[in-house]
Amino acid sequence: MALLNNLVNLHLGDSTEKIIAEYIWIGGSGVDMRSKARTLPGSVSDPKELPKWNYDGSSTGQAPGENSEVILHPEAIFKDPFRRGSNILVICDAYTPAGEPIPTNKRFSAEKIFSHPNVIAEEPWFGIEQEYTLLQRDVHWPLGWPIGGFPRPQGPYYCGVGADKAFGRDIVDSHYKACLYAGISVSGVNGEVMPGQWEFQVGPAVGISAGDQIWAARYILERITEIAGVLVSFDPKPIQGDWNGAGAHTNYSTKSTRRNGGMDEIKRAIEKLGLRHREHITAYGEGNERRLTGRHETADIHTFSWGIADRGASIRVGRETEMAGNGYLEDRRPASNMDPYVVTSMIAETTILWKP
Ligand code: ADP
Ligand code: MN
Ligand code: MN
Ligand code: MN
Repeated sequence: MALLNNLVNLHLGDSTEKIIAEYIWIGGSGVDMRSKARTLPGSVSDPKELPKWNYDGSSTGQAPGENSEVILHPEAIFKDPFRRGSNILVICDAYTPAGEPIPTNKRFSAEKIFSHPNVIAEEPWFGIEQEYTLLQRDVHWPLGWPIGGFPRPQGPYYCGVGADKAFGRDIVDSHYKACLYAGISVSGVNGEVMPGQWEFQVGPAVGISAGDQIWAARYILERITEIAGVLVSFDPKPIQGDWNGAGAHTNYSTKSTRRNGGMDEIKRAIEKLGLRHREHITAYGEGNERRLTGRHETADIHTFSWGIADRGASIRVGRETEMAGNGYLEDRRPASNMDPYVVTSMIAETTILWKP
């Protein structure tokens, strides 16, 4: 094991020009992540300098067997916290050989919205609170829960400390540090209401970068839990009953909401979000109806509401924003398994481009 550890920690770049690039993409389910590695002749900092690549889409549920090639376009680079040195993680999106985005490529249309001049002018910022649940690998039951049984009811676990309250902190902390190393703007982490459930926040991040960073952070979390022999679940309601679900609250502001008197613009944005409630809900994650019940700090999926400091509303405006008269809103509806490209671009489209 000691020898294996030494080799795993061998730093390329200390001794070679060549580096390893791990190309990462989203698989056929729209939530599973795939990656494969390749050698590059030297270090790279701009994704435009990276070669396109391809993979077998028939093995990821993304192409038929007789025409299986899917083309990877490198879009964003992060430092690789596992291989370190000059090695990199590369977030890619996927195209047919003819250059059409494949159906699971949600980044393509998101990028279109974020490169619209009116959207660029508004400098949309996102802060995404990614919740997730750690599961015991062999029984698919939350970490720290007795097998075949339940822990004490919710109450002591949120931001809790102690061996009977915080399950998996080493995973959470190594993920936090690995993300900062990679160049992801994680703004914080906390233990959640349901034991075994945690949250990290990414942001504020501008435009398409919020989606790139969330996907990179999810990838790093998959890799760290893989090392730990623990499963990570993004299911919005992993345990039925009196246990909180997992969401991805999306905090949002624009130049107009951040400036003096921005509260009027926040109210306009909320009104538009309300008019398109059903469309947004449809795009906010699979199985979200199991989570948005009107209980456990959620609003009922069928009704749109907003409020100051109201954790039972679809949209919450923080006390600080209300007092300052400008700031940001929090869309509490997205599920933990949402696609951040879809959610962020839809919020920008509805609030900036759409004319009701
Ligand atoms: P909550 O109080 O709902 O738990 P968090 O502190 O977990 O909120 O997350 C809030 C997120 O919002 C953070 O990622 C933070 O960086 C982000 N944020 C702060 N200010 C803004 C802003 N003006 N626009 C968008 N996001 C913001
Ligand atoms: Mn939070
Ligand atoms: Mn939370
Ligand atoms: Mn929140």
